Amino acid sequence: MMDLHTHLDLYPNAIKLAYEVNETNSFTLCVTTSPRAWRATSDVFSRLANIEVALGLHPEIVSQKYGERTLMLQYISSARFIGEIGLDGSPQYSNSLRTLQKQIFGDVLSEVSRAGGRVMSIHSRRAVSEVLLMLRVHPNVGIPILHWFSGSISELREAINIGCYFSVNTLMATSERGAYLISLMPHDKVLPESDGPFAIQGNLPLSPMSSNQVAHLLSTIWKVDKEEVQLGFESTLRHIQSDLK
Ligand code: MN
Repeated sequence: MMDLHTHLDLYPNAIKLAYEVNETNSFTLCVTTSPRAWRATSDVFSRLANIEVALGLHPEIVSQKYGERTLMLQYISSARFIGEIGLDGSPQYSNSLRTLQKQIFGDVLSEVSRAGGRVMSIHSRRAVSEVLLMLRVHPNVGIPILHWFSGSISELREAINIGCYFSVNTLMATSERGAYLISLMPHDKVLPESDGPFAIQGNLPLSPMSSNQVAHLLSTIWKVDKEEVQLGFESTLRHIQSDLK
C-alpha cells in the first residue's frame, strides 16, 4: 500500500501510527505545512525508511508563515520531495491569493526549477487555472502531482496536457463529481492519497493505509480489475521515483 499525500505528523498518535505505516506501506509521502515543520518531522521520521517527508508551505497559512519564506527557499536544494504547496482561492484566503500566495508559489517553483526539478504535491482548491498557468511558466519543475483535484473538465484536460499527475482519496472517489473527474484521468497518472487527518469520512480521519480502498473504488470507476489498479499504482510510483535526481 502507499499514500502520496498524508499529514502523518498531525495525527493525534503520530509516532505510533508512523511506525505502523512504515511497516504496512511500501511508500508514504508525509507532506508538511511549513519549513520548520519539515525540519522537525524529518528528524522524527528519519529512521522510517518507507516514509518520505516533503518540504511544504501550505497556501492556507502563508499569511501566518510568511516569515519562513526564506527558509523555505533555502531548504529546497536539500529536500527530495516538495509539498504541500500551491494556491487556494476559497473566500477566506482570497485576500492572500493574488499577493502572498502567488509570490511564494512562484518563488518556490523558480527555486525548484533551479534545483533540477522535484516531485511536488500541489494544492489547487478553487485556483486550478492559476496553478496551471504558473506551472506553464515554470516548465522544468519536475513532477507536479495535483492532490485532490476539484477543477472543471477543461481544467482537467489542461492539467493532463501539461503532464500533471493526480493523487486521489476515498472521499473524492465516492463523490459523484470526484468519480467523474477520475473517470477522465489517464490511468498511469493516478496515485492514491488520504489527506488525513484533515480528510474525514464518517467520524474518522482517512487512514494513510487506505490505498486498497482507493484501488477498489478506482476499479469500479474504470471498470478494470482491482489488481490491475494496484499494479498501476506501483508502476506509476516507480516511474516517479526513477525521475528523482
Ligand atoms: Mn493536505
